[in-house]
Amino acid sequence: MMPTPVPPDVRLIGERHCPKCGYTFTAVGTGDGRPASDPTPGDFTVCMKCIAVLVFDSSMALRELTTEELWRLTREEVRDLSNMKGRIAYMHRVCGPPGGPVPPMQES
Ligand SMILES: [Zn+2]
Repeated sequence: MMPTPVPPDVRLIGERHCPKCGYTFTAVGTGDGRPASDPTPGDFTVCMKCIAVLVFDSSMALRELTTEELWRLTREEVRDLSNMKGRIAYMHRVCGPPGGPVPPMQES
């Protein structure tokens, strides 16, 4: 079977997990049609399931942003992340979150 072609705004990244809800990621994307590139440490993404803002750490695992990092985001980063979170929230309203309901928040 031929592999499904990956659109230019999506990059396959191998399996990663959301530290907040456990959702499994295998790709990242720009979400707005801009070409995607391979993520590097410090790049942000948004969990498709719980909509947490995440960052790739130095080992390319995902972790939640710290409060300090949130305050250091540029205006463009805040805009991009807000747009992405809005799109995902809209997808949840239309289709439901991927893999079913979001589990209750866990104390960390
Ligand atoms: Zn998540």
